[in-house]
Formats: sequence, C-alpha cells, structure tokens
Amino acid sequence: MKIVHHGAKTGVTGSCHELIVGDNSLLVDCGLFQGKEARETLDIEFDIKNIAALLLTHSHIDHIGRLPWLLAAGFSGPIYATEATAALVPLMLEDGLKIQLGLSNKQCEAALALIHQRIRPVPYDCWAQIVLPTGELVKIRFRPAGHILGSAYIEIKLPTNEIVVFSGDLGPKNTPLLTDPIAPTVAHTLIIESTYGDKPHHQLEHRQRVLKQIIERSLQDGGAIIIPAFSVGRTQELLFDLENIIAEVDVDPNEDQTIKRVWQRLPVILDSPLAQKVTEEYRYFHELWAKEAKQRRYMGRHPLAFEQCITIDSHADHIKLVNRLQHSGEPAIIVAASGMCSGGRVVNYLKALLTDKRTDVIFAGYQAQGTTGRALVDGEKVVRIDDKVIDVAAQIHQLSGYSAHAAQEDLVSFVADIEQGPQVIKVVHGDLEAQTALANALRKVKPEATVIIAASE
Ligand SMILES: [Zn+2]
Repeated sequence: MKIVHHGAKTGVTGSCHELIVGDNSLLVDCGLFQGKEARETLDIEFDIKNIAALLLTHSHIDHIGRLPWLLAAGFSGPIYATEATAALVPLMLEDGLKIQLGLSNKQCEAALALIHQRIRPVPYDCWAQIVLPTGELVKIRFRPAGHILGSAYIEIKLPTNEIVVFSGDLGPKNTPLLTDPIAPTVAHTLIIESTYGDKPHHQLEHRQRVLKQIIERSLQDGGAIIIPAFSVGRTQELLFDLENIIAEVDVDPNEDQTIKRVWQRLPVILDSPLAQKVTEEYRYFHELWAKEAKQRRYMGRHPLAFEQCITIDSHADHIKLVNRLQHSGEPAIIVAASGMCSGGRVVNYLKALLTDKRTDVIFAGYQAQGTTGRALVDGEKVVRIDDKVIDVAAQIHQLSGYSAHAAQEDLVSFVADIEQGPQVIKVVHGDLEAQTALANALRKVKPEATVIIAASE
C-alpha cells in the first residue's frame, strides 16, 4: 500500500490523495487549487488509468472542484459519497464552475449529468464494497466529520484487512447543528488534516451571546447589519443561532420589553441563492443534526426556516432591497455570500451601505489576504470594490466561534481516541507551521506512531 498526495500536501486547497493498492488505486477527493495555490491549468497531471473509484469526503470546492477535469481525462469509475454530499455536489459544482471558472451552461450540464450517473450515495456508518479489477475487495465506510452537512472521514479496509483512514476536513466539537466526529476504533494508517493544527480552542460557547450583544448594540442607531457568510455551513450556523436568540428573547421574563419588541420585528434576510438551496438540504437531512438541533425541531421550532427569516430569490428583488435599505436606513440583518466579500450579492450591499455610519458589518470567519473582507477587518477606511472607491463609515465587527475546522485540541483528541493504532500518521492539508505543530502534538499522544509531515516530504 502506498499513498501519493496530488494536492493539499503543502497547503489547504486542491485536496487529492491516491491510495495505491497493488495494481489499482482509489482516489480520495479531487479538489480545486485556490487563492495563492491556484494553478494555470486544471488538467489532471497524474496517471488515472489504474484508479478504480473516487471517494469524496465532502462537497467543498477545494475537495471536489476538479471532478469535471477528472472525468474529461477519462476517469470512468464510480464516485462514492455520503447521501448528503451527493445532494450538495451538483449545487456546489454548478456555482463553482460557472462563477469561479467561467464554464458555459452546456459544459456545466454535461459534467453534472456524468456525475449524476456515476455517484453512489452511501449512508453513514455502513460498509460498502468496491470490487477491484483484480477481483479483490476493498471496503469503505463514511463516518461523521462534523465539518459541513454530509462531511465524512473515510475508513478503507484493504484486502489485507489493514485499515487506512482519511480524515477529510474535521469539524470542531460541540457545535449545536452537526454531530461531533467520533474517532475510529481501528486505524493502521491515518491521513489527517491540519488546517488549524497550530490554533487554540475556538470560543464556541459564547458565540451566540456575543452575536446577540453586537446586534443589539448595532440596532441602537438603526441601519443594516450585514453578515457576509459562506453558503455552506456558516450561513446555516448563523441562521440557527439567530433563530435561537429570537426564541429565547421571546420567553425570557427578565428581558427588557423594548429589546423584545426589536427582536420580534427584526427581519433576517437570507440573500444568496446558493445558500438558500444548501439550507434546504440541511433541512431535508435533519436526521443528521446534533441532539440539540433535533430537540428544537421536535418542539415545533424551525431552526433554519423561521418566521422572521425572509429569502430573496431574483436578482431584481435583490437590487430592490439594496436600494430600499440604502434609502430607508431601516434595521435588518442580511446574511449573504461570499464570506470574504470577494463576490456574490454581499458586494452590492457593501457598495451601497458601507458609507453609512449606521451600517454594521459582522465577520464570522477567516478573511484571506487581498480580499475586501480582509481590508475591512484590518480597519481600512477606504476600500475599492469593482473599481469603485468607497469611504468606510460603517462599524466593523469580528466574531469568533464559527469555524468549521477542528482546532489543535479537537484534532489531537480525535487521534488520541483511536483505540487501536495508528502506526503511521501522515499530516496533510495545512501550511508547514500547522502541520509541524500538529505532528509534534500527535507524537505526544501516540508516541509509538511514525508521524510524517507531508509538506516536508
Ligand atoms: Zn472543507
């Protein structure tokens, strides 16, 4: 058995790992290289003739984005994914291919039709069998990873009974919407992500309280509250917390009556077509929710589709709403993509409302260098959006606790909880510092394991 990393070896994008078993191999993810890791060509540069199947850990574009190019290169095997990932892949790819890569409708439809034919949804926690061309059997099992809806780590049982585990992206523990990842019982070899391998614990516990405080302070002078958010994961977590704030304020006997009235009338506007479709999938797959989220649903609440949550569909309605908020200054929360303000409908809100000092912008995620989001978080007083120079009068806030990635502590406990093994751990999907920090921490909890840093291989 041998593992070759075709992506996410020295960075966090382009995830693609090949597990070679004798004359055949399995490919785990086929993601797009993004940001500073973006490549000139998207063509698949490795030999694909022995790849028997593709396994997908989750539907983020840096894990599935090169799928159309894999198919174009002649890959004709099945594609295995959880049921929720299988539902999200077409949505995420359509958005990514058209918007980021400029593919035509026809090219997009052709790729999606092929994927639809090949995809084999497998429920969580069930072993599926893959028969290799040699007649040998490989078993695979998807287990909850707690990162986004449908995300999984994958256990692969080889014909030798050796178990190889690919972590995919792991989520933090104790998030209210998705279940926590539970470590595998046995792993002989583990390939683990390290995005936040050098980062301390996320402040998840207080995030809802802090969100409420920021919103209440922002509402004192009226105006819009803009929350730029990724369409998958972040948007749903924010809606989930906002619904809970509204529900709790409503029944709290100690809450100020004025504040109660403000919350009862406050519109929460979801203005992002992709985020809307993804939210529908989150609602459809409610069986995958964590206990707390399920309980709220059984109580008759609608954590992701509550009364005050208004969705905007057409572009014309979107523009109408931007203009209305610009002229009325009425209070409203707007959740819109993209999360780093580098595209999507949130850009129009920023162009119209950043100059108004009543406006508040709440960032709930990491902002990469060079994005409008980063400039605002850094306190720039003038930003350039679509060649328009804008004076920033709005208040900018940063909120922690909404990360979709496990921090070092979560990653270490995931590995420490493995009862048998691993003998070999390969740290991938992180920059060199994160990989090194995680590797050092893992050596302490699994002293008998050989820990390899992919970035320095
Ligand atoms: Zn991811």
